[in-house]
Amino acid sequence: MRAIRFDTTGGPEVLQVVDVPRPEVQPGTVLIRHQAIGVNFIDTYFRTGLYPAPLPCIPGSEAAGIVEAVGEGVTRFEVGDLAAYCIGLGGYAEYGLVAEGRAVKVPAGVEITLAAAALLKGATAEYLLHRTYPVKRGDTILLHAGAGGVGQIAIQWAKALGAQVITTVGSEEKADIARKLGADHVILYRHEDVAARVRAITGGLGVPVGYDSVGKDTFEATLASLSVRGMFVSYGNASGAVEPFSPQRLAAGGSLFFARPRLGDYIATPEELDLSAGRLWAVLRDGTVKIDIAQTFALEDARAAHEALEGRRTVGASLLIP
Ligand code: NDP
Repeated sequence: MRAIRFDTTGGPEVLQVVDVPRPEVQPGTVLIRHQAIGVNFIDTYFRTGLYPAPLPCIPGSEAAGIVEAVGEGVTRFEVGDLAAYCIGLGGYAEYGLVAEGRAVKVPAGVEITLAAAALLKGATAEYLLHRTYPVKRGDTILLHAGAGGVGQIAIQWAKALGAQVITTVGSEEKADIARKLGADHVILYRHEDVAARVRAITGGLGVPVGYDSVGKDTFEATLASLSVRGMFVSYGNASGAVEPFSPQRLAAGGSLFFARPRLGDYIATPEELDLSAGRLWAVLRDGTVKIDIAQTFALEDARAAHEALEGRRTVGASLLIP
């Protein structure tokens, strides 16, 4: 099968198109013929070596397609089912082999390309907003990178939960997108003082939660935007990893909480995955959340997909089509 592989970590140029043997189905696993593959920022962390991966490595943590074969003991799937999965590696290929508990059926009414674009980013928005800091009606929240993949979903979902959303974006074009999705306040964080704007919007109080996927560049601004006993949810490193800091800073900021969650720990069991995916399918089907698949690349063009994502030239979700 065709796949994208890197043999050493590095820039987008380490991604090569290769022919590799198709995986053989194993007990407890399902073999999925991919119809669409989600591109996620986490794929770039494995490629650069920020997150460790065994080499050589086929990246890719999200895809959807048709179940081609099921291993011994599999109960969740039958051949011919439409399935999607997220987490792990190996997605940038024509076929993916996954443990059955890591995959979900794609329900009627959800297009397969939508499932591939939505599952990882949507399950992330679900656990962040429902389970890391459960957003309550009337909360004013700070959410960085609102025009991105996770960001677009999270704005819409947080609005449906009754929150006022303050978001940040890198350009005027992205600001328009965030506003159209319902963001109440949009901050151009490359030009404006984020914490000062947040304090002004909240009458000096600050926000009870800051969802920060940007990392290094926004750490100080997020910390300075929180209300007393607020929660810093650091869930990504698009600009680089957060530098080590003293817990004393959380005390000085007003008895703050600092969370560093990972999707895998919130969908660790099939039951949790089904809960998260079920909530996602519901908001997709009833129109609460719309997914913008703004970039589609051929599988062979994975390098261009990474260049665009890291170059901040994408909005919404990106797909690779095998
Ligand atoms: P996005 O589509 O949001 O792309 C990343 C965005 O980050 C860019 O578009 C850009 O938006 C912004 N950004 C800010 N600084 C930089 C920089 N220096 N270089 C590149 N981009 C920058 O990606 P995803 O939706 O795939 O993921 C969003 C974030 O969520 C990522 O950090 C990812 O790692 C994280 N994540 C974490 C998970 C978890 O469980 N912990 C699970 C899933 C995703 P702008 O131009 O507006 O600044």
